[in-house]
Amino acid sequence: MDSQIRNRGFSRQEANGVVPIGLRFYRSRARQALLNVGTGVLIRIGPSLASIKPLRKVAVHLATARLRAGYEEALKVSHRPPGVERDRFDMGLAILHTVERALARDRLSDATLRGMLGILLKDILIRQGDWSVKQQFYATHGSNPPDFLLISPCKTCNLHCIGCYADSGPTREKLDWAVFDRLVTEAHELWGARFFVISGGEPLAYRSDGRGVLDLAERHRDCFFLMYTNGTLINDGVARRMAELGNITPAISLEGMRERTDERRGAGVFDQILTAMARLRREKVFFGLSLTATRHNAEEILSDEFVDFFFEERGALYAWIFHYMPIGRSFTLDLMPTPAQRLRMWQRVWELIRQRHLFLADFWNSGTVSDGCISAGRAGGYLYVDWNGAVSPCVFAPYSPININEAYAQGKTLNDVWAEPFFADIRAWQHEYGFEQPREGRHGNWLTPCPIRDHYGEFRQLLALHEPDPIDENARQALLDEGYARGLIAYDEALQALSEPLWEQRYLYPDGAEHDAQATE
Ligand code: SF4
Repeated sequence: MDSQIRNRGFSRQEANGVVPIGLRFYRSRARQALLNVGTGVLIRIGPSLASIKPLRKVAVHLATARLRAGYEEALKVSHRPPGVERDRFDMGLAILHTVERALARDRLSDATLRGMLGILLKDILIRQGDWSVKQQFYATHGSNPPDFLLISPCKTCNLHCIGCYADSGPTREKLDWAVFDRLVTEAHELWGARFFVISGGEPLAYRSDGRGVLDLAERHRDCFFLMYTNGTLINDGVARRMAELGNITPAISLEGMRERTDERRGAGVFDQILTAMARLRREKVFFGLSLTATRHNAEEILSDEFVDFFFEERGALYAWIFHYMPIGRSFTLDLMPTPAQRLRMWQRVWELIRQRHLFLADFWNSGTVSDGCISAGRAGGYLYVDWNGAVSPCVFAPYSPININEAYAQGKTLNDVWAEPFFADIRAWQHEYGFEQPREGRHGNWLTPCPIRDHYGEFRQLLALHEPDPIDENARQALLDEGYARGLIAYDEALQALSEPLWEQRYLYPDGAEHDAQATE
């Protein structure tokens, strides 16, 4: 490895992916100044870009050229497989065109434009957080810190959806405001994190000490928040406040069109969501969708009808896709998209990204863009904290070795939480599987990046070794259920057999697009 690093003429940090392409550009003082000026100009001329089409086209053309140059350079020097660099380039283009669409359609309030360009684009995507803090973390721990936290501040929810992953409902379980706020402050100070994901329960139902999620966004104006919400609590006042804040984006949950959404979420919910979207559009809030794919709706949520309706007519600007995970309320393996469906979804998602430049991220099928699994506090990844303070590797891995309330009571910090052996062993698994591995070496299949879902047998061994606490009775039952384990392992074997040829031909040794059509028929 060391000789490869020397041969390519960049440092160990860079070879390990610690310094991404955007950051290498950012690092010199001159370029840093240029970037600051460039983003400042972009923020000032954003409204003009919205109305002057030729100007917008020139800006997109220049940014595309810059992305392409970065891609071509990466093909020569990057440690990543060539097909992975191609995915990253295509996703970059999709993000660029999403911003252009938002400007062209005059979809962003002034504060949102400032938040998106100044925090999301410049501080988070390009600078990747506070670099001096990250360097300090690296010097102490020999690894880059996580880039974000996912926090579910409350379990309570005003809906009662079938198969809810959080088994939410009318409960009082929640984080104290002081802990919620401290998590954000600490992740910022110790990790340089500027991005936070808020889930639930229903985040907009959270109240503690008279404060809620929007108060958190207001208190941390230099951070950006992505909030998964059922959308039913977005009234006029909430939409207006989000537009004024500009540093929070709601991703609204849907199961498909009206029939499927109301079937799982309750009668009338689809119409409430459309009303919420109209409010967000009117106030110029940057918003998107959160889609749970099951065996029954996997095709519907990626259909032209669905995509056209929400992206073209209703103003959604992005979508996150989560495959149903057999955790939470009444968990069952029968709702998981089949391995063949999963690969069809992979094919369709990338088709929409490449052909229509839509920003779609699939928590499993976009593993190539995130360098595989991002759980357990991996460099650039995240940790999950729930309403009771349980810290887990991932929102879909409901097993916790440590509770943040207890850790804080003992004088510990997030860095002590990060160092937990259970998390460290998952990070070692990620590394062994492919993260930061040289291109020429053994590289795991990032079409199956997930330790808990795609490699459940190995994940169970880690659970047996570290014995983290199940976060609820459902998680405990899943652990005791041998049929559950057998079913997931059989699923993984079938998925591996289907996806491995695709991984080799499209990513490791790309030689054309014929193979994916055959593999997913
Ligand atoms: S554990 Fe699985 S679901 Fe969680 S971040 Fe890793 S790949 Fe994604």
